[in-house]
Amino acid sequence: MVDLSDGLEDVPVLHKDLKIPTFKYCPDNVQGPGCGVDPSEVTLPGCSCVSRSCCPESCSCLQTGGPAYLSASALLDLNRTDSDYSSPVFECNALCGCSDTCSNRVVQKGLQLRLEIFRTSSRGCGVRTLQQIPRGTFVCEYAGEVVSFAEARRRQLNQSAEENNYIIAVMEHAGSGSVTKTFVDPTRVGNVGRFLNHSCQPNLVMVPVRVHSVVPRLALFASRDIRTEEELTFDYSGGCGEQQPAEAMTVAEANRPNGPQRKPCSCGANNCTGFLPLDLSILS
Ligand SMILES: [Zn+2]
Ligand SMILES: [Zn+2]
Ligand SMILES: [Zn+2]
Repeated sequence: MVDLSDGLEDVPVLHKDLKIPTFKYCPDNVQGPGCGVDPSEVTLPGCSCVSRSCCPESCSCLQTGGPAYLSASALLDLNRTDSDYSSPVFECNALCGCSDTCSNRVVQKGLQLRLEIFRTSSRGCGVRTLQQIPRGTFVCEYAGEVVSFAEARRRQLNQSAEENNYIIAVMEHAGSGSVTKTFVDPTRVGNVGRFLNHSCQPNLVMVPVRVHSVVPRLALFASRDIRTEEELTFDYSGGCGEQQPAEAMTVAEANRPNGPQRKPCSCGANNCTGFLPLDLSILS
């Protein structure tokens, strides 16, 4: 087994010497074209808690987005992901007074599970787990270049039908009814997340999580208990509302030579829509 991350993750990202097209492995988001903020810079304040672990009564981090984790276990409170829009999660960061064991520090610890990239029967590479994963556990980030809307659009329009579409658009409420969108493209720079396949009945859920930067990390958590050797999948539409349902575009439209590249879905779920989600708002 080979470590795809080449030592950059705490835990190796294993594969059995698969031929993987070149990309730069990076565990965290990087600043891409059109993104005005370097995601590695500290742009958020910290809390002034002096306890080992923060509590919602006194912690400014926990009060900003509301507690995201079930505090004793550091598992995501999955009830908060039920709404159409994702609400923001603010973890404690380097400026906070609490200790490293604060229960509001989860995604920042990075990959902690043994995952394997493997060749699926029909969908190219995929990711499976080499250990059981309890519901609510942080699994991995979907990291890549953070790009502007215009750059995401340009890249998507320049894609050929054969290329994988990796760009994920995540929409969040930004207060007063406005909406912020974050575009992450792990095609050239990315982490293990770029190998996850889409499923219409996924076992991971994507949640935008902020640690020290206003740029969110796209964190994937187990939406149910997952068995050893199961393939890990998420819904490429992010479950964040604005994506068009598959029926919105006909096969004829999808097959137009210059039309948006609509790709078939072969996830095999009972409720499969037949097509991969495509964020048409990028293309309009
Ligand atoms: Zn804290
Ligand atoms: Zn605090
Ligand atoms: Zn804090």
